Amino acid sequence: MQPLQAVKGMNDILPPDSARWERLEAQMRSVLQRYGYANVRTPIVEPTALFVRGIGEVTDIVEKEMYAFEDKMNGDHLALRPEGTAGVVRAMIEHSFLREGGKRLYYFGAMFRHERPQKGRYRQFHQMGVEALGFAGPDVDAEVILLARTLWRELGLVEGRDVTLELNCLGQPEERRAHRAALIAYLEQHQDVLDDEAKRRMHSNPLRVLDTKNPAMQAMAEGAPKLLDFLGPESLAHFNGVRALLDAVGLAYRLNPRLVRGLDYYNLTVFEWVTDKLGAQGTVCAGGRYDGLIEQLGGKAAPAVGFGLGIERILLLLETLGLGAAEPQVDAYAVVPDPADLPRILPTLEALRAAGVAVQMHAGGGSFKSQFKKADASGARFALVFGGDELARGEVAVKPLREEGAAQSIRALAAVADWAAELLPA
Ligand code: ATP
Ligand code: MG
Repeated sequence: MQPLQAVKGMNDILPPDSARWERLEAQMRSVLQRYGYANVRTPIVEPTALFVRGIGEVTDIVEKEMYAFEDKMNGDHLALRPEGTAGVVRAMIEHSFLREGGKRLYYFGAMFRHERPQKGRYRQFHQMGVEALGFAGPDVDAEVILLARTLWRELGLVEGRDVTLELNCLGQPEERRAHRAALIAYLEQHQDVLDDEAKRRMHSNPLRVLDTKNPAMQAMAEGAPKLLDFLGPESLAHFNGVRALLDAVGLAYRLNPRLVRGLDYYNLTVFEWVTDKLGAQGTVCAGGRYDGLIEQLGGKAAPAVGFGLGIERILLLLETLGLGAAEPQVDAYAVVPDPADLPRILPTLEALRAAGVAVQMHAGGGSFKSQFKKADASGARFALVFGGDELARGEVAVKPLREEGAAQSIRALAAVADWAAELLPA
């Protein structure tokens, strides 16, 4: 029979690679905790209407990338989440979470978009996202941007070299409307260079026309009316507030007036952390303010800011730079020459594990030599050799595997607590 395969663009994450994922997730959690963000977990499947209302009807995601389907049992219109924000906001409204004020939240999870799979672009991919809900000021915009910077630093990425912050301000709806009218007039004058998609969208979503990846339209996009020139004093004050805080912590950024983001719900601050090391998939983290979304999804109006970060892209970037190597998985490997001795061995392994030592037990028998090969391949720093002679004396031989010429030592099984710590990483 032909074996079945995973769905195209959806990847298995297997050892040893999965260790890099876990390490990255742990590093992210540690940073998130230090900024006071709490974890939320929402369903992968949501009503399709949530994304249509939340992300916007005339967007790549909703128009052509969403895995939407009908529930066979009851005909409900459902979709696999293409992003995390809409679900988090839905949950906050549903559980009246914003009643007592602002909330700082984060999530990890798989997202689904029907795109053309390529390096750094998949149909199932993973995001870590943060959402700060209920805060209106530029301080929290700066906070989420800084949270990302802290993460880059801990990952060993260098700002300005490996990742760079791009920043823009989208203003408020009325400012965008004035700009939009000017933009449509401009696009109408440049019909000859617009591709079909641009022509179709120039009236429904002209801003998105500027977000094009079509090289033939770049020059046209460069010369288009700039939203920045349509911003009123309040929007400018917010933008300058963010910039002043970033300046205060020495975070250099590039102003990018063409940064509009692929989702409809953003206003005021938008930003992306980009790299030039991943080709066309250069955006590793993207976000901004979305003050209108909570009300748009049926909640009491409240401001919000957040970002989504592509985990696969971060891992690719780390790999490209030779960073993020995973640590060995276990501290020690238990060599069990005679499985019949296990009843006498197992209590020691359990005591070591209880003391925090990662111990992998050899299973399945085999020669002493083949067991040592496995011990070596496991990445363990020590082999615990439970030979018959040692066991008869109530002892185990502890053999260092990674230090050239290091001698083995003999340890008493009855005194695990005295030597367990020696097996832990320095
Ligand atoms: P792009 O312009 O690359 O399509 P996007 O604007 O659609 O990105 P967002 O919706 O802002 O992306 O998602 C946030 C982050 O999630 C992106 O910056 C990227 O790192 C990651 N991401 C988005 N789509 C994919 C995908 N199909 N595969 C892997 N990562 C993705
Ligand atoms: Mg996209």
